[in-house]
Amino acid sequence: MQGPITLNTPLDEALHLTPKQKLLLEKLGLLIVEDLLRYAPSRYETAVSFKPIAELAKGERASFRGQLSHIKTEKTWRKKMPITKAELADHTGSIPLIWFYQPYIGRMLKEGAEAAFTGTVSVRGNTLYCSNPVPRPLAADESFGHGPLPVYPETRGLSSRWFQFNIRKVLSRLSPKLEDSVPADILTRYHLPRLFPALLALHAPRTGGAAEAARKRFAFEEIFYIQLGRMQARAARDAHHAFSVRTDKSTLAAFTTALPFVLTGAQTRIITHVLRDLARPRPMSRLVEGDVGSGKTVIALAAACSAIQNGYQVAYMAPTEVLARQHFATIIKLLRPFRIPVGLITGGECEKFPSKTSEEESTHISKAQLLKWTESHAVNFVVGTHALIQKNVRFKRLALVIIDEQHRFGVNQRFSLTQKGNAELPHLLSMTATPIPRTLALTIYGDLDLSLLDELPPERKRTITEIIPPKERERAYKMVRERLAEGRQAYVICPRIEESRNEKNDLLTLAAKNVKDERERLSRDIFPDKHIGMLHGKMRPKEKTRVMEQFRNGNIDILVATSVIEVGVDVPNATIIIIEGADRFGLAQLHQLRGRVARSSFTPYCLVFSESSGKTISQRLRAFQNAKNGFELAEYDLALRGPGELSGTKQWGISDLGMEALKNIKMVEAARLEARRLLEEDPTLAQHSQLCKRAALTSMLHFE
Ligand code: ADP
Ligand code: MG
Repeated sequence: MQGPITLNTPLDEALHLTPKQKLLLEKLGLLIVEDLLRYAPSRYETAVSFKPIAELAKGERASFRGQLSHIKTEKTWRKKMPITKAELADHTGSIPLIWFYQPYIGRMLKEGAEAAFTGTVSVRGNTLYCSNPVPRPLAADESFGHGPLPVYPETRGLSSRWFQFNIRKVLSRLSPKLEDSVPADILTRYHLPRLFPALLALHAPRTGGAAEAARKRFAFEEIFYIQLGRMQARAARDAHHAFSVRTDKSTLAAFTTALPFVLTGAQTRIITHVLRDLARPRPMSRLVEGDVGSGKTVIALAAACSAIQNGYQVAYMAPTEVLARQHFATIIKLLRPFRIPVGLITGGECEKFPSKTSEEESTHISKAQLLKWTESHAVNFVVGTHALIQKNVRFKRLALVIIDEQHRFGVNQRFSLTQKGNAELPHLLSMTATPIPRTLALTIYGDLDLSLLDELPPERKRTITEIIPPKERERAYKMVRERLAEGRQAYVICPRIEESRNEKNDLLTLAAKNVKDERERLSRDIFPDKHIGMLHGKMRPKEKTRVMEQFRNGNIDILVATSVIEVGVDVPNATIIIIEGADRFGLAQLHQLRGRVARSSFTPYCLVFSESSGKTISQRLRAFQNAKNGFELAEYDLALRGPGELSGTKQWGISDLGMEALKNIKMVEAARLEARRLLEEDPTLAQHSQLCKRAALTSMLHFE
């Protein structure tokens, strides 16, 4: 069919799609024409000039073309790795090409055909060759445009060329009279192009500058919608009633005197803010952001204590079972003078403190029993994992919901927990250690009041972080040995639980260290005289609990673990951590891991091994080594990673294009200003139905 199409036309009506293509597009979330048109190129290529093969030099990245011959695909006998080889010749000379792990390349190449590639030239012996060159269109194919050539993120089965071709096809049949959901005055104010020209310039730019302007528009738009969505959500929360929790001085004094330490100035300040929020009859929406180890838990407990002393209930959600259990223990310890009945609910088991028989101990109870007690208010404080948000968990007088490591939960999960109140909405206190850049915080936390916990408890020493070259492995173990001799404990983090094999029993990841083998090896070869324990996500809850208890009591010297201990785990006596395969972890994750050992007045050490040594990897690790704190690291991370590589994308639900906007504080502030202005004029967005729909859609999609 060749008729006109609109933004809402389903893709399988607008294009001839095979069932497979349809499925792949659905997986990418591309259902209608508008979705496809908003699928942004990850970069642009300017028309290239091809170099004569004879002029290629070692180390150079170049494009060249010629005729293919000697195409051969084979497997290495040892690793069964598919290898494709070919020869490319032009009138000046020839060069061997080789591809590893790309069997489909062999099927694409045609003997005797003309082809062009871009790649880096290497040398072996005296012969130049090029490995893994990227095929590129021959000049004749590029004739559909004169400007820069858009390159799209590829997925298996939908190549960049597929997107180029089909997006242009759709664009050519689209009426230029599109309804633009972003108000015209806003676009004018920031010199941003309107929708249709912007779409054209995004996918078929005449110049690099035009593409840039279009990208800026879509980036602005995305941030603007997210802001609007967040602000609306906040307004909706603010319209509800909440229990007003008043804290009398004696409760607070009793709480602080029972603590085994003195609160820092920052902790005291934030507790004051939180308690002030709680006293209001409107639900609090506050996020405490503080670096790993800065002491967020005690802030939550102060608030919880006050709510409970006022006769209300509190729910405290943590992302892992290990952490939920740790909080359960901390609550029992720090709130002991208040004699508060506390419940623990996880996927695996439930507990209650105190037990019937002993005022000092907790006891296992059935889930049904705990649910009953929670509903009848026999339990005042319930800690748990995701299990807390199940429908059958009901409270009688829930006044406060605490969400720890809140970035680990989707917006809907957080939302479900705050719906557990009855007529009143509970106050919400969430906490995160994930250092995120200010621009990102302003965007995704647009609905929350921020408290910055910017002071570490006294006597904390800066972590000594070292990137250890493989041949100095022994030195790392020596440092561990020294710490153990001083009475401290250690973590060894591995990227995997066990070696991974495919169905044919081939080893998949050659180098990645795994917890099981590494524990074996360390106890056999390196630390035969030490107690070495192991912790990973596939262990049964009971085992995990036992291991953590042993580690906490000092019965385990070295804990070999996956990143399950990444969030929240607090064993202050552990002061050295070895991170294996550090290149496999994101910077924020590494920072969290390092935070495990900076929880006391002893000097903490973080020793890092990397399995690969590419330029970006060593750059990243060096940033990790040098950054003074998480926030510095986060800013660095944002600046360092090119668009398309932002691993944060998934986590925050912001597209690569939107991430570009986050590098620009002015743009983010502009989007905020405009969103606020718009909502002031038109709180329900009644005058902007189109925009309202998109804002709702964007914030839903983006926060799953
Ligand atoms: P995070 O902010 O990472 O959640 P925690 O709340 O787990 O940090 O606290 C980290 C460690 O610091 C814990 O062992 C806690 O007991 C301790 N701590 C918290 N506040 C203080 C303080 N003011 N002085 C000394 N130690 C503190
Ligand atoms: Mg914590």
